[in-house]
Amino acid sequence: MKVVLATHNPHKVAEFQQIVAATRPDLEVVGYDGPEPVEDGVTFAENALIKARAASAHTGLAALADDSGICVDVLGGSPGVFSAYWAGQKKDAAANLELLLDQLRDIVDPHRSAHFTSTIALVTPDGDEHVVEGIWPGRLAHAASGDGGFGYDPIFVPDGQSEGAERTVGEFSDAEKQAHSHRARAFAELVPLLSRL
Ligand code: IMP
Repeated sequence: MKVVLATHNPHKVAEFQQIVAATRPDLEVVGYDGPEPVEDGVTFAENALIKARAASAHTGLAALADDSGICVDVLGGSPGVFSAYWAGQKKDAAANLELLLDQLRDIVDPHRSAHFTSTIALVTPDGDEHVVEGIWPGRLAHAASGDGGFGYDPIFVPDGQSEGAERTVGEFSDAEKQAHSHRARAFAELVPLLSRL
């Protein structure tokens, strides 16, 4: 089965391809180079649906779109849907991450809890729509570390690591990230729905 992936973010395309290859090798995921809709939703689900609907309408294929971000508890869930633009409209990943670290400068570890969220929308050409979500809990580090992944990976420390040996996702290998990430967790929720197509 062929599915178009409604994202222009090369990091997300690469991550999806690795996740799909590991779980649904029969699925042919093709990239999307059509027009990008305005993401004016105020929830991850709204934005994922906006992107998947546009890609399905443009290509005539079933479309997948991920809308994702980092949610920091002490900031009431922000940056959330504004993760890509936290330091302004330039989508500057380094500036976003520095601003977030600065905002939490005086906040101690027990109050630095955060999670990554990935919300994936699946839209078929005949108008079926499904939305699934994956969450990756953890906390914010005090300084950036590692150059793997993208976005906020160098300042996110996932839960469940051995004490004293904790690393940021920036220090994870690609395979490690894809085994645990919010995107992989959301995709796992999607697999049964794909089988029904
Ligand atoms: P979107 O492309 O509109 O969904 O924006 C997602 C933004 O959230 C990205 O620009 C990153 O800043 C952040 N983000 C989402 N997923 C990840 C991830 O896996 N690692 C690090 N940052 C992420």
